[in-house]
Amino acid sequence: MAVPRNRLSNARKNSKRSHHAKRPRNISACSNCQTPRLSHRICPHCGFYSGRVIIHAKAE
Ligand SMILES: [Zn+2]
Repeated sequence: MAVPRNRLSNARKNSKRSHHAKRPRNISACSNCQTPRLSHRICPHCGFYSGRVIIHAKAE
């Protein structure tokens, strides 16, 4: 395994980790029912994805 040649200073370590923060998950409105849903996921309310019904979860 590769071993670091020199010790990383606190400032270098901290500035490197300045880009490591998690970003909030991308939430967009459903194109069918306008309910907020995660992007690239089937809508939990109406089961729509890419313009068609994939799952009939909450059919009445
Ligand atoms: Zn929907």
